[in-house]
Amino acid sequence: MNSLVVVGAQWGDEGKGKIVNYLAEKADVIIRYQGGDNAGHTVKFNGKEFHLRTIPSGIFYEEKVNLLGNGMVINPLSLVKEMDELKKEGYTSSNLYISSQATLDLIYDIELDGLKEAKLSSKKIGTTKKGIGPSYTDKAERSSLRMSDLKDEDFLTILENKINEKNALIEFYGGNKINFEEYKEEYRKAREILLPHIIESVPFVAKLRKENKKILFEGAQGTMLDVDFGTFPYVTSSNVIAGGAISGSGIGLGYIEGALGIIKSYTTRVGEGPFVTELFDDTATKIREDAHEYGVNTHRARRIGWLDLVQLKYSQSVNGFKYGALMLLDILKDVNEIKACVAYSLDGKTIDYLPTSLKELERCKPIYKTFPSFKEDISKCKSYEELPIEAKNYINFIEEFLGIEIVIVSVGKDKSETIIRKEIF
Ligand code: GDP
Repeated sequence: MNSLVVVGAQWGDEGKGKIVNYLAEKADVIIRYQGGDNAGHTVKFNGKEFHLRTIPSGIFYEEKVNLLGNGMVINPLSLVKEMDELKKEGYTSSNLYISSQATLDLIYDIELDGLKEAKLSSKKIGTTKKGIGPSYTDKAERSSLRMSDLKDEDFLTILENKINEKNALIEFYGGNKINFEEYKEEYRKAREILLPHIIESVPFVAKLRKENKKILFEGAQGTMLDVDFGTFPYVTSSNVIAGGAISGSGIGLGYIEGALGIIKSYTTRVGEGPFVTELFDDTATKIREDAHEYGVNTHRARRIGWLDLVQLKYSQSVNGFKYGALMLLDILKDVNEIKACVAYSLDGKTIDYLPTSLKELERCKPIYKTFPSFKEDISKCKSYEELPIEAKNYINFIEEFLGIEIVIVSVGKDKSETIIRKEIF
C-alpha cells in the first residue's frame, strides 16, 4: 500500500506511537489529520523516549515530510515548545509543515475548556483542558482563527480583538479576564517561528501523491472517542476514525488504500463514560502497573478492562480496517486467565452490537470467552511461530471474530520487540 491510515481501535493509548514510528521509517510523508496537543504519543527512538503531542512521529527522520493537516487544532505556543524540546535533542523540525487551513487553539480556548468543564460538575467529560473542544466549537461556529490568520501581519491585533470578545464569555463562566499584554510577546515569537512552516496543504499533498510518495496518516486518540461514533458525549471533538484522514488532510477519498487498526490486547480508557469490560480487581492493578497505564499528558491512572470484541467489531466497521496490530500482548503474561468479551447481556437479552444509548450501554454486562494465559516471557519472540500456543489461540480468535488479519504483534515497548507477520506498507 502506498497510503495507509493508522487508527486507534479503542479509546486511544493503544500504542499507536510505536507502530507509527515503525511505519514512518518506510513512509515518505506522515500526516496528522485531527486533534491537537491533547494526543500524547510515546516514541522510543535511538534509545531515548520522546513524548510527542502535536508533531507526527516522522519528525525524527530529516528526509521525511511531516504535515499537520487542516483537520487539526494547533496551539502555536505548545507547538513551539515541542519544537524546542526536539531541537535540544538535535531534531530541527525543518521537515515540519503546517496546513494554512488548520484551526488555531488559543489562550482563551484553553481557559474556556477548564471553565466549561468545571461548570459541568457531576457530568464532566474528562477533557485534557488543552482547549481542543472550544477550538473545534469555534470552527463549527465558523468564528475560529486559522493558521492563515497567523500569516496576517495584523495577527496580534486580530488576536487582541478576539481575546477581548472572548473575555465576556470567560467572565460569564466565572473566570478572570485574559490580559493580552501578558501573552503578546509569546505569540509574536511563536508566529515568527511557525511562519516558514505554513503551507497550502491541498496542492502540497496532491504533488506528493503524484510523485508516488508513500503517505502515512497518523490518527490520534481512538475510535470510541470519535465525535460521531464514540461514546458521546465522552468523546473528543473531532473525527478520529480512518475517514477523518480525508476531511482532515485534503487527500481525496480514492487515494487512500487502507487502514491499520491498532488494538491493545486489553482495554483502557481515560476519563468518564461507560466501559462494559472494566475491571476493579487485582488484575486491573497488575496490568496498570506492569504497563504503566497512566496518561502521558494528564498522568491520570487509566481505567483497565478486558478486550471488548463487541466494541472492536463496531470499530472495525466504522474504520474498515482489514489489518490490525495487536499491542502490549506481553502484559497479559501471568494473569490468571485471559478474557475477551464476545457479546453483551442487556436487560437479560444477549446482544452482539454496541448500543449507542449510553444508558443502555451502562446496563450492558459482558459475556466472556475465557482463554488460558501464558507464563512465558514473550518479549524476545521474533516470529508468530515462537509465541506460546495460548497467545496464538488468543490472536487467532481475535482475527476470526473481527474478520481481519493481525499483521503486527507487539510484545514489548522497544522497537525490537515487535513481530511483523506481514508487510502491508
Ligand atoms: P498511543 O497514544 O496510542 O501511542 O499510546 P501511548 O503512547 O499512550 O501508550 C502506549 C504505551 O505503551 C507507551 O508507553 C509505549 O511505549 C508502550 N507500548 C507500546 N507497545 C507496547 C508493547 O507491546 N508492550 C509494552 N509493554 N509496552 C508497549
